[in-house]
Amino acid sequence: MSRPLSTHYDLVVIGAGIVGLASAREFLHRYPKLRVLVVEKEQQIASHQTGHNSGVIHTGIYYAPGSLKARTCVEGHRRMIEYCAEKGIRVEKYGKVIVAINENELPRLDNLYQRGIANGVQGLEMIGAERLKEIEPHAAGIKAIWSPTTSVVNYKEVAAAYAEDIRAAGGEIVVECKLTAITQREDQITLGLYGSFAPHWEGEITTHYLITCGGLHSDLLANMASPERDMQIIPFRGDYYLLKPEKRSLVNGMIYPVPDPRFPFLGVHFTRLISGEVKAGPNAVLAFAREGYGRKDVDFKELREILTSTSFIRLAMKYWRMGALEMYRDYVKSAYVKALQQYMPEITGDDLLPGPSGVRAQALAKNGKLVDDFLIRQGKNMIHVQNAPSPAATASLVIGEHIVNEAQKNFALEAVAV
Ligand SMILES: Cc1cc2nc3c(=O)[nH]c(=O)nc-3n(C[C@H](O)[C@H](O)[C@H](O)COP(=O)(O)OP(=O)(O)OC[C@H]3O[C@@H](n4cnc5c(N)ncnc54)[C@H](O)[C@@H]3O)c2cc1C
Repeated sequence: MSRPLSTHYDLVVIGAGIVGLASAREFLHRYPKLRVLVVEKEQQIASHQTGHNSGVIHTGIYYAPGSLKARTCVEGHRRMIEYCAEKGIRVEKYGKVIVAINENELPRLDNLYQRGIANGVQGLEMIGAERLKEIEPHAAGIKAIWSPTTSVVNYKEVAAAYAEDIRAAGGEIVVECKLTAITQREDQITLGLYGSFAPHWEGEITTHYLITCGGLHSDLLANMASPERDMQIIPFRGDYYLLKPEKRSLVNGMIYPVPDPRFPFLGVHFTRLISGEVKAGPNAVLAFAREGYGRKDVDFKELREILTSTSFIRLAMKYWRMGALEMYRDYVKSAYVKALQQYMPEITGDDLLPGPSGVRAQALAKNGKLVDDFLIRQGKNMIHVQNAPSPAATASLVIGEHIVNEAQKNFALEAVAV
């Protein structure tokens, strides 16, 4: 359906990715009488980050203690596993090792372990090379963190279950319907919508409250409401390879590197998916379009906006070496294979088939710094999710709760939900 059934709602959520759906679901759970609409521009829900991720239910090891990521991920991991059990969604508890491949990485591995403990991650163990060989016989490494409860799921199935919950609670979800404008007058917000389903239509609806969860477009949505433009989304494309079916047995669960704390991504790794396939990667290169999943997908307007922004220029000047290496790996398979061989020496280019790709939405602040934590901002009668990278899928149920808690502080929800 591409057209809302009504012209007025109590609450509208933009974006039917896992964060938008989790938020709408939580609002309806707490306020069953609220008239809620979720608006999604694509034909199907979960079409972007939510439908292109690795499906890992992270445990919360990596994140700074006290950060929103740490708080929502540790609790989100527990809640996601409970929710999937309740809904009959398959989860596999494969477990994950984070491996140090040389002495230089040991202090960072130790710090990471301490972080995991400080965050309250259950079951973490520091293991030596011998135990690592028992868990992942083909992995290289001199020491590792073993996280036995790291699991995998298909987040598209989770998103579909959230959507089902929303509809069952009386909420409405429209697809092929794009938010084009936000106008705020007194206590009412007017939203311009464009329905791309033929016959196309344009129209307006009003709402008391608005939540935007636009992923790769989250800055544009927030700018529609207030053009502060102090935050910009940088789309980072990550390409994966898939291990040939006869080589999948090289990986039992997940094999991850010790991340470099200067960068927001975890580095190339191996992940056994819920389907049994094994993904290797991803790299991290600038995507030439916000939703540019292939090397040849270019949106010149979007690319120009990124390349000419002062914040991006600052970022590029700082990380040009790393960026150039990632670009090189993007085009030269042997360089990518070399990066993977550090963690699995016996892997060769012949073992790898081209795999899927994903684009990660990463917020960049005006000062040229990548925003590390989740960023959820309040406006008058509005909340904008401005940075929700990994582990937002894992943490989605708790992020939804956090958003409703924030709304309760400033929105008169009881007054409208009658
Ligand atoms: C390659 C990759 C691997 C990842 N791996 C993991 C992992 O293993 N575990 C984990 O926890 N997290 C992982 N993540 C992160 C996770 O997928 C995201 O954090 C999460 O999906 C974000 O959800 P979202 O709802 O904010 O964004 P999205 O899923 O991108 O949804 C945003 C939605 O908003 C819609 N939208 C945008 N603009 C408009 C508009 N104007 N009108 C209407 N609709 C609009 C879009 O079409 C989209 O559907 C990964 C991400 C990527 C890309």
